[in-house]
Amino acid sequence: MTIQPVTPDPSISEDLLAAGRRAYELDRAHVFHSWGAQRTLSPMTVVKTEDSYVWDGQGHRLIDFSSQLINTNIGHSHPKVVEAIQQQAATIATINPSHVNDVRSEAARLVAELAPGDLNHVFFTNAGADAVEHAARMARLHTGRPKILSAYRAYHGGTELAFNLTADPRRDAVDKAAAGVAHFMPSYPYRSYFHATTEQEETERALEHLEQTILLEGPRSIAAVILETVPGTAGIYVPPAGYLEGVRELTRKHGILFIADEVMVGFGRTGEWFAVNHWGVEPDLMTFAKGVNSGYVPLGGVAISDAVFESFATTAYPGGLTYSGHPLACAAAVATITAMKDEGMVENSARLGREIIGPRLREMQAAHPSVGDVRGLGAFWAVELVKDRATKEPMAAYGGSSPEMNELVAECKRLGLLPFQNMNRIHVAPPLNTPDDVVRHGLDILDQALSVTDGYVS
Ligand code: PLP
Repeated sequence: MTIQPVTPDPSISEDLLAAGRRAYELDRAHVFHSWGAQRTLSPMTVVKTEDSYVWDGQGHRLIDFSSQLINTNIGHSHPKVVEAIQQQAATIATINPSHVNDVRSEAARLVAELAPGDLNHVFFTNAGADAVEHAARMARLHTGRPKILSAYRAYHGGTELAFNLTADPRRDAVDKAAAGVAHFMPSYPYRSYFHATTEQEETERALEHLEQTILLEGPRSIAAVILETVPGTAGIYVPPAGYLEGVRELTRKHGILFIADEVMVGFGRTGEWFAVNHWGVEPDLMTFAKGVNSGYVPLGGVAISDAVFESFATTAYPGGLTYSGHPLACAAAVATITAMKDEGMVENSARLGREIIGPRLREMQAAHPSVGDVRGLGAFWAVELVKDRATKEPMAAYGGSSPEMNELVAECKRLGLLPFQNMNRIHVAPPLNTPDDVVRHGLDILDQALSVTDGYVS
């Protein structure tokens, strides 16, 4: 059955739409946006959010397959979390981070309980990038070594060091190549940098390359290797069997810390509380943000192993933030984690991937010549669009978009789906508690919209 374009929702009042139009005018006059060239932007207005839906400035209801920036793991406006924030605002709305308060203590306990290994200590930050900054600082102070190694294509945040650790094209304009950072090739099986033709070859060669990089950079100068457990923004390429275990082994062998960046994949996104659990890997430091409280109030943090903690047990840690463990953010984290447990959202994420999203995307891959690859785990999938399956020529060049991809996104929105697009990929990342029929309808829309990119296959 052909899906018809979505029409404005009659329950959205004219007043709300007028407020949206006014917001757009003010935005264009005064708001400076992330990443974009300001005069070329035409951002989408959102007038309402609820569960797995957002309503645009014309009142169209769209299924949110982006979870915004992959953060609303529990969907929009979860009533228990909204209530927890309201109650917290009415008791202790803010507090000096040097004082003890109940919600920060409980949030730290919950994170430590869920985190793998002996990550028993939590330093709270405002978001993901500053979590990465602090994890790197802790690793340097703990080891007494200056360098951090990260993978090309990775995204670790937009602040100074985190952006130097980032190795996607956005960094180029500000990179000074002087931040104590060195990069290595990631494992990316679909476009293997190692000319691998099997998963085993990919793992072996990627690990050999990493060890060579460590040896050539000099192990005694390397404090840590930081890796997104499943690289997110760069394309959701799930590590091949044995890769992460190998990275863990290599880092131990050379006295280097392993920092797992779980900012995007933590808190159930991949169908485990943390993605490292899929491979039984225990990092020395683990960064988190986004899903910890679904982004209802900004929060991030570093989970710290006992050994790293000991470096700061009797020596002061040189770092802090006015809002470290902000009560509103921590109350939201406690309520979010509790709701996720009570409602079985992590298990649901795994099931959605296994039973609905994965099988359906594989069907689309078989049916649509523009789909080069599909891959993912839980509620975290990438559809990689190509002009030619044999050459894998991407539908948009690395680092940019293309009229073809813009047309695909526009078609998804026209039919009622808000997708997450990056370069030549569409990411399928709905909230973990999205009802099955809504996920299925979103996938139906994507399936129909893919006829747009099929039309550009050469
Ligand atoms: N690390 C990873 C893996 C991310 O995906 C992101 C953001 O998308 C960050 C760090 C930075 O987080 P934030 O934008 O909260 O600073």
